[in-house]
Amino acid sequence: MVKTVRDYIRTIPDFPQAGILFRDVTTLFADARGFRMAIDQLLTPYAGLRIDRVAGLEARGFILGGAVAHQLSTGFVPIRKKGKLPARTIEQSYLLEYGEAVVEMHDDALQPGEKVLLVDDLLATGGTAEAGIRLIERLGAEVVGCAFVVDLPDLGGRKKLEALGMEVHALCA
Ligand code: 5GP
Repeated sequence: MVKTVRDYIRTIPDFPQAGILFRDVTTLFADARGFRMAIDQLLTPYAGLRIDRVAGLEARGFILGGAVAHQLSTGFVPIRKKGKLPARTIEQSYLLEYGEAVVEMHDDALQPGEKVLLVDDLLATGGTAEAGIRLIERLGAEVVGCAFVVDLPDLGGRKKLEALGMEVHALCA
């Protein structure tokens, strides 16, 4: 039987805490065929579109985003957790189930008018991706798409991003 991207992802119960079913994409990344399939499929909807840069969300979005950027021959821009980037940054906070998190981007990472593809491994509530979108837009750039390997639709992320006018692309649920 032909394997799909979903077949390379394993689910780990009770990680990082009891009751959570964690989608482990390291098994996808570790497999040459699976990884190539994921990168190729992440790119499918954007054929022929102008994309100036790929932005990846820490940390698994770096692995995917780097490969996607290489394939598109664009640059890659990291969106990192607070305190990791060395030069001047802009920051964006977002709500977690309990408390708040902050992501940052270098304030010179994008130029106004640039078209950016946002990449991460998984879309859950959409809070992380929304914060990334806000950072990109605050620098005057435009998000042309948000691409994920996994979408967990019950957690509402797709609806949240679509309400912001985003095109959401995911390979599996
Ligand atoms: P959200 O902000 O959409 O609620 O959560 C998405 C972020 O949390 C992504 O950066 C993603 O890497 C991480 N994440 C949340 N749950 C999982 C999971 O089950 N598996 C993986 N691989 N990442 C997850």
